[in-house]
Amino acid sequence: MENCIFCRIVAGEIPSATVYEDENFKAIMDIAPAAKGHVIMVAKKHYANLFELDDTVASKALIVARKIAIAIQMELNCDGVNLLQNNGEAAGQTVFHFHIHVIPRYDEDQVTVPWRHTQYGDGEAAALAVKLAARI
Ligand code: 5GP
Ligand code: ZN
Repeated sequence: MENCIFCRIVAGEIPSATVYEDENFKAIMDIAPAAKGHVIMVAKKHYANLFELDDTVASKALIVARKIAIAIQMELNCDGVNLLQNNGEAAGQTVFHFHIHVIPRYDEDQVTVPWRHTQYGDGEAAALAVKLAARI
């Protein structure tokens, strides 16, 4: 994917501050961080999003994200860590190459991952759970 910025970073054509690399992932400092220490863990192969991942890469992703989260927590002594992974413009995805954000969080920080809580009608959650379960 020659026009994909993350493919170019993985290929070394665009420099990045790398914190971790293995056969499947390259984790780099985000260029416009939510907080100092914000890392993005980028798949080496071009998958546009979560839906395109194969099970092997998907299963390895959380293992690597956890290692990065632990390193961030130990180095920055932050109060919390968010893992965030956006799929589709509606979900806030801006780079259409699979990646996971690992974001250090502090009590009273200004970082927001907000939503307004909605509500189910009577029986709606249970009915939807049945439909979702049928698709897994
Ligand atoms: P998304 O919104 O797709 O989940 O996240 C894309 C992330 O990639 C953003 O946080 C953005 O700051 C980061 N980003 C975009 N271009 C570059 C780049 O060239 N280098 C680095 N290190 N991060 C980038
Ligand atoms: Zn790509």
